Amino acid sequence: KSMSQPRKATDKDKVDLIKKVECFIFDCDGVIWRGDSVIDGVPETLNLLRSLGKRLFFVTNNSTKSRAGYLKKFTSLGLNINAEEIYSSSYAAAAYLESINFNKKVYVIGEEGIQQELDLKGIKHIGGPSDGDKKVKLGPGEFMEHDKDVGAVVVGFDRNINYYKIQYATLCIRENPGCLFIATNRDAVTHLTDAQEWAGNGSMVGALVGSTKREPKVVGKPSDFMLDNIATTFKLNKEQICMVGDRLDTDIMFGKNGGLTTALVLSGVTDEETLLSPDNKIHPDYYMPQLSDLLTAKEM
Ligand code: PLP
Ligand code: CA
Repeated sequence: KSMSQPRKATDKDKVDLIKKVECFIFDCDGVIWRGDSVIDGVPETLNLLRSLGKRLFFVTNNSTKSRAGYLKKFTSLGLNINAEEIYSSSYAAAAYLESINFNKKVYVIGEEGIQQELDLKGIKHIGGPSDGDKKVKLGPGEFMEHDKDVGAVVVGFDRNINYYKIQYATLCIRENPGCLFIATNRDAVTHLTDAQEWAGNGSMVGALVGSTKREPKVVGKPSDFMLDNIATTFKLNKEQICMVGDRLDTDIMFGKNGGLTTALVLSGVTDEETLLSPDNKIHPDYYMPQLSDLLTAKEM
């Protein structure tokens, strides 16, 4: 039985897509920007979709910034976005804890984004970037204390992760079977610079999977938590949403898990060869070189 191949969007596909869909969810890095530069034609494409009355959301697995941090980034890149259109995995962690009425303390492996979002929800937390200065001194009989009020460990991307943090989080999880283990995302690699791939949050989550033998609850893409949160808050019908992303195992999975229409752009981490390879089992409905390819629909 032949598997249908992903389809390179024709001009008619793009017109049909824009007609059919009332809401677009965009991944950020690789779709809207690459690092700190806007991808060609993005402002014009967003303007076109807005002029057609489409609702737009911007979803990123990068937990290092809060939504407020991303709003600044959008603004500094000259993109006019409303605060409520932004969903980051840092926010997803805080929103998830709120949704289960979490009332203990969080141990954070991660950067300011997670701390700021927890603060906005009034959730107590310890750890974070400053724990990067702490060292374990392994003398005879060395014993590390941990706060017994910690009821969740949140693991996000942390450029100052160290053995102290891994040991602290491991104690929290192993010594309290009720302690939640939450991952903002599990991206294997990220493009911190465009010169090469860098170890992503999957490596940090993996350290704790290894030490605790527990699997985390993932709140970013491809989990359905963020999608359900967006759909419920904005009363969206999933059949009328298109997810646009550059990564198969996060963005396109996220869309497919939620029953959304999916479009892959080749302006990020996935090239056409990988997409069309028989080894790839994650097939978007459409693909196109970059987001601004939707602009051709304007001329029709
Ligand atoms: N996590 C980190 C640390 C990143 O640097 C990036 C991209 O730059 C991502 C995740 C993926 O972000 P997005 O979901 O916007 O592609
Ligand atoms: Ca991306």
